[in-house]
Amino acid sequence: MSKMRFFALQELANRKPVDVSLPSDKLSDYYGIHVFDQQKMKEFLPKEAYKAVQDAIEKGKRISIETADLIANGMKSWAKQLNVTHYTHWFQPLTDGTAEKHDGFIDFDKNGDVIERFSGKLLIQQEPDASSFPNGGIRNTFEARGYTAWDVSSPAFVVDDTLCIPTIFISYTGEALDYKTPLLKALAAVDIAATEVCKLFDTKVERVHANLGWEQEYFLVDRALYDARPDLCLTGRTLMGHSSAKDQQLDDHYFGSIPARVTAFMKELEIECYKLGIPLKTRHNEVAPNQFELAPIFENVNLANDHNQLVMDLMKRIAQKHKFAVLLHEKPFSSVNGSGKHNNWSLCTNTGINLFAPGKNPKGNMLFLTFLVNVLMMVYKNQDLLRASIMSATNSYRLGANEAPPAILSIFLGKQLTAVLDSFVKQDYGSNSDNESLTLKLGIDRIPEILLDTTDRNRTSPFAFTGNRFEFRAVGSSANCAGAMIAINAAMANQLEEFKATVDSFLEDGMTKTEALFHALKDAIIESSPIRFEGDGYSDEWKQEAVKRGLSNINSVPEALMHYESKQSRAVLIGEHIFNETELASRLEVELEKFTKKVQIESRVLGDLAINHIVPTAVIYQNRLLENVRGLREVFDDAEYEMQSADRKELIREISFRITEIKRLVNEMTEARKKANHMENYQERAFAYEQEVKPYLESIRDHIDNLEMEIDDEIWPLPKYRELLFTK
Ligand code: ADP
Ligand code: MG
Repeated sequence: MSKMRFFALQELANRKPVDVSLPSDKLSDYYGIHVFDQQKMKEFLPKEAYKAVQDAIEKGKRISIETADLIANGMKSWAKQLNVTHYTHWFQPLTDGTAEKHDGFIDFDKNGDVIERFSGKLLIQQEPDASSFPNGGIRNTFEARGYTAWDVSSPAFVVDDTLCIPTIFISYTGEALDYKTPLLKALAAVDIAATEVCKLFDTKVERVHANLGWEQEYFLVDRALYDARPDLCLTGRTLMGHSSAKDQQLDDHYFGSIPARVTAFMKELEIECYKLGIPLKTRHNEVAPNQFELAPIFENVNLANDHNQLVMDLMKRIAQKHKFAVLLHEKPFSSVNGSGKHNNWSLCTNTGINLFAPGKNPKGNMLFLTFLVNVLMMVYKNQDLLRASIMSATNSYRLGANEAPPAILSIFLGKQLTAVLDSFVKQDYGSNSDNESLTLKLGIDRIPEILLDTTDRNRTSPFAFTGNRFEFRAVGSSANCAGAMIAINAAMANQLEEFKATVDSFLEDGMTKTEALFHALKDAIIESSPIRFEGDGYSDEWKQEAVKRGLSNINSVPEALMHYESKQSRAVLIGEHIFNETELASRLEVELEKFTKKVQIESRVLGDLAINHIVPTAVIYQNRLLENVRGLREVFDDAEYEMQSADRKELIREISFRITEIKRLVNEMTEARKKANHMENYQERAFAYEQEVKPYLESIRDHIDNLEMEIDDEIWPLPKYRELLFTK
């Protein structure tokens, strides 16, 4: 056995759970102690500074530099209580993760004496070098400099010895280079558009905010085994590995008891999250062995997303202490379930109404129905944008594979709600047209009791209605939720504007409000009906049915991403001012380049492993077999030798064949890569990687996985699936 694999297994045998104790038996004693929240602002800021922050959060008012000085000073005083020495602008560039550049509070005063300083200027804005982050060509157009600017709506927090200030990240010329900037714009757009529609029902509604409750799936692998798998370390997934004889077929992992080492990890993660004011609620085993999930209570989208980014980071750090590696990749192991990040999304008014929850009276139900139908239309019209928003090199291995949503968008509503919509379109707008009687006639007033029954929850739908929210399940586990949330909220804003315009035009034609709503809804229900699907989203029949319905199903990553530029996506993203032309073009370039680079890295790693680890191991085993055959020749006469050695000769031939094939395929793959790398155009390059390079990953793997079954376990160099997946 290779030394790495041997030592890894030996370490594994001696692992013990880490002791984790609660800071206090009362959660409220430590919840949020690492966040500069409202309560701490009140305590540490002068009155006028506190008010300025509130006005900035609620009304978007600017904060003067003098006030910023006061705020920075208050923040520093609070942070110093936690022994903080550094501060950083914490932002979300277009990479997989967050970025931070730590600076000390250290400074010199006028007399040259050392002091600790944190000024308003440093709080509000900084200038990291934008050229070292993905920028999709934007930096070439002008300057390398970029700016980070304070996002007042997300509170500052402390991690270790550093005060972290959530910021947006833009180029010197003002274009967004991050996820947060367009997200804030999309949330503002949906706020305005949804408020306008709400006003048709209730003039008291002044704001609508979007909520997000994410569910994060992940795998844990023992650290030593992980370190012995270069493919996991460098690409986040196993590029080879024969499936374990037992994996998830007995369904014995889902909701099963959590191993002690894992519980200790989860417990410590929860404590750290609580200190940061992240309201984690749920933890459980997932379907695949060593797969788990955690989910917080939902929050407003911007904060929820910051929290998700922070949690992904914390998970990695805390896992190290527990001698685990966290795998956030969507498909770390082929043939067992992949990991998603369900995005539970809802819209809520400032008057406290959840627009996706059936109302308590007929009027409330008309409001609910209006928003429900607009979601149907939004997804129907923006399938391609929604898919582009979740597609990536890593998520592409999950979509459509074992128990994951296919790359077809559809919405599940449940039997009763479907019946309500079906009966709605059968109605004519008759004489009985005042609000009350219409809704009664349509049976809409009965929705609440009906929806209490959620037993027919369909887990195979990529976009499911779950009683008071929609759950977008195609989002990948490693993704920044902002990608999906930008698309959904911007598209919803666009859809609601169109709906409002339709209703307004009906009103101008002399219809009553109820009549106008009735017709606008009826038309929308009929038009969007192809997007509704209640059956098994994982089945092959659905793929055929979707084609008949004219729904798109795109598995190629570059092709899916190119739809960022399709007519409808542009109408949403440019039309709603989420991106300008330059930003949209750069976003597409960044995503395509990310794809290209990830496939390039996988291809290089697989090539190295195949030639340096697998082929030499196969040769060693083949030589042993050859020796054995020679020995048989010496011992037996011709006839018996032929009989005794037949199977070994067959095996030698097979191993020989696979070695030759692996070498040939690796050479071809390298040539394909070279050719693609020489392409000037980043779009052509991405398509070349998808079509010419990516298929080799599968064909080479196939030979390696077969060799794994044929070769003596003792000399196999890499930890196997059964070892990686069944860590205690
Ligand atoms: P399941 O696994 O059954 O889908 P979970 O309890 O794991 O459900 O996760 C549900 C998620 O949905 C949680 O994050 C929860 O806070 C969130 N959620 C619940 N209600 C809403 C809502 N109205 N808007 C947004 N998210 C919500
Ligand atoms: Mg869910």
